Amino acid sequence: MSTESSLRADIVEVGRRMYARGYTASNDGNISVRLGADRLLMTPKGVCKGFMSPDMMCITDLAGVKLEGDRDPSSEMLMHLEVYRQRPDVHAVVHAHPPTATGFAVAGIPLDRAVLAEVLATLGSIPIADYATPSTKELPEAVRKYIKAYDGMLLANHGALTVGPDLFGAYYKMETIEHFAKISLVARMLGRENLIAREEVEHLQALRGTYGIKAPAPLCPPDGKPAEDDPTCQFVQAPSGTGVRLVPDVIDPRAGGAAGEAARARGASGAPGVPGTPRSNDETEIRLTYHELSALIEDAIRSLR
Ligand SMILES: [Zn+2]
Repeated sequence: MSTESSLRADIVEVGRRMYARGYTASNDGNISVRLGADRLLMTPKGVCKGFMSPDMMCITDLAGVKLEGDRDPSSEMLMHLEVYRQRPDVHAVVHAHPPTATGFAVAGIPLDRAVLAEVLATLGSIPIADYATPSTKELPEAVRKYIKAYDGMLLANHGALTVGPDLFGAYYKMETIEHFAKISLVARMLGRENLIAREEVEHLQALRGTYGIKAPAPLCPPDGKPAEDDPTCQFVQAPSGTGVRLVPDVIDPRAGGAAGEAARARGASGAPGVPGTPRSNDETEIRLTYHELSALIEDAIRSLR
């Protein structure tokens, strides 16, 4: 069992790492840990996480009443309290604004594709909690929807939240999310993501027990997403079949927005191939300029008349 003084030092160290890695700017972010059964040790409001000292921390009860400390507790205390209420197994909560993961949160793109084995084994996938005004009670409400099924989530137009059985466990999940986001961004810039097959995803999740990784919820069944208002399983985009599949773009061409438009323009079929095997001619990508595409559409309309 960690002592209060070692937990204070650990919060200082995690704050220093978050700031050094650019996960927070200025006074952003907040960190808390359980201190026994009914108390929390938490970063104070309005300090840079890169330059904290152990004596700055606040102690509150689980209702958020300050018990000790010269400073007021974090402005996001309500979000932390909600996590501890919903998850008795969680002993630490970390919130930051890591730039690449937050970029996905701003773009409204969840990190839910099966592309990295270690992420699938540890976090499963990372959804996006609805936008809520920071520091208000809207934010814990948005987080509540996902926290029972996920150990990490993006916060729309805001940042990311991770939880764990101890402080470094929660912090490392923040590192994993940002690392995953960077790799996903590069893969998408390169124009292709090789999705791991569903069977392999299930195999990876089964390994959790071997490595002592506790997951808050199982994988959702392949035939659908969990209930919108109460997810009790983790949604992962993974095609069924054996072995790794090549999926050039799994964005549904019927989807709206620029992504759907791009998928339509590419004629994304989602048809899988085999790694290292040349794709057949009928799957060869055709690139058209906007004017060429417009001319084709106009021709098609003319021929219908
Ligand atoms: Zn924030």
